[in-house]
Amino acid sequence: MTEKWHKEPIELFNETVITIPTFRKNNLDKMGHIPELKNMYLWIETTAQLEAYIKPLLDAAQSRPINLAVDTEFIRENTYFSQLCLIQLAWENHVALIDPIALNGQLEPLRAVFTHKNILKILHSGRQDLEIFWLVFKELPKPLYDTQIAAMVCGYGESIAYNLLVEHLLKIPLDKASRLTDWSKRPLNEEQCKYAMADVTHLLHVYALLQARIDETGRNLWIEEEIAELLNPALYEPTPELAWQKIRANRLKPKSIEALKVMATYREQQAIARDVPKSRLIKDEVLVDLATHLPESMDQLKRMRGLPPSMRTNPFISHLLQLIVQVKKSSEPSVQKDFIQDRILPHRYEGLLDLLRMLLKIVSEQEGVAPKLLANRNDLEQLIIHTLEGVTPQFDHPLLEGWRFELFGNQAQKVILGQEGLYWNNGRISCRM
Ligand SMILES: [Zn+2]
Repeated sequence: MTEKWHKEPIELFNETVITIPTFRKNNLDKMGHIPELKNMYLWIETTAQLEAYIKPLLDAAQSRPINLAVDTEFIRENTYFSQLCLIQLAWENHVALIDPIALNGQLEPLRAVFTHKNILKILHSGRQDLEIFWLVFKELPKPLYDTQIAAMVCGYGESIAYNLLVEHLLKIPLDKASRLTDWSKRPLNEEQCKYAMADVTHLLHVYALLQARIDETGRNLWIEEEIAELLNPALYEPTPELAWQKIRANRLKPKSIEALKVMATYREQQAIARDVPKSRLIKDEVLVDLATHLPESMDQLKRMRGLPPSMRTNPFISHLLQLIVQVKKSSEPSVQKDFIQDRILPHRYEGLLDLLRMLLKIVSEQEGVAPKLLANRNDLEQLIIHTLEGVTPQFDHPLLEGWRFELFGNQAQKVILGQEGLYWNNGRISCRM
């Protein structure tokens, strides 16, 4: 993010001077006024309370940039869409636990905060929170910051957990006992509230420390790119036609991939319509099994070994069989050939993939960043196919442009083309021409 965001003085968070504030619960006073919020949190369950909490925040944001820590708690065990159970907010000394259940989902007053350009919304690993906000507001919080991304740029490895980051940076151990709490239960007890609060109170400090490091290394642009990606609404809108890509299946034939695609699309649509987890309708393994064997009738289905008996009476089975019949009949695959090749790396390149993984490890160690920030397996596979087979990647390939190309993609292509090699050199592996 840009320089203008307010940064806490780092000295304050020195190990020796840290005190863990003891927060007490508070509500609006009898007059309906907001009390002095130092070391307290507000429990918010009415629209009036929500508006009273938001007003000083919006007022303050008129004259200066504000850092706002944001977190949510939700459950999604029995539903397709996450059920929002709690929103935690913290800025300066103002901490609030907002109860969306008591508010009956009426969160509209928060929109002004989430869209205010002078309020930086700071989350840790915000993707699921953003999914919920998209569901509620059809809009994403902006400007946005994600401390998990910042941590990757600072060399903390992939997807570091919030509690580990707090422990490492602030030397504060966090209680994890409430992590698996059922957040939809009411009332939440004091332990649960404290746990929920710690998710945002320390986040402001974590942000300040990480961002200070990033300023030093001049890698602000990396963060901005990653966050811009996180703010792509397409990530949060369900896309049944792409559901098949999340199913683990190795080396299916084109017809089988085609069948998997139409069956997964159908299952996703049904799960959305009923708001139930898709695995409850039909498990991934069953879809892969069906796609592999392509049964066209109940008779053929019954002869498939290893298929759970419940599938014979599954209410969706006859529709799935129909879909399979259609796929087998059609001559034009809707899954393009290129795309199939994009997804499945030919066997002969497995060794090369290992070599690139090694290079990725070396480069990310040298640069002090998490490997995942530079490239994932799919990026490496696509780079190989693109470089050696000339298949155009379906999307703009991240390794072929910007800082990822300079840092890794360029070198990786040279290794693929045999122009650079990896050597054991003075106790470490290095890369040279
Ligand atoms: Zn949380």
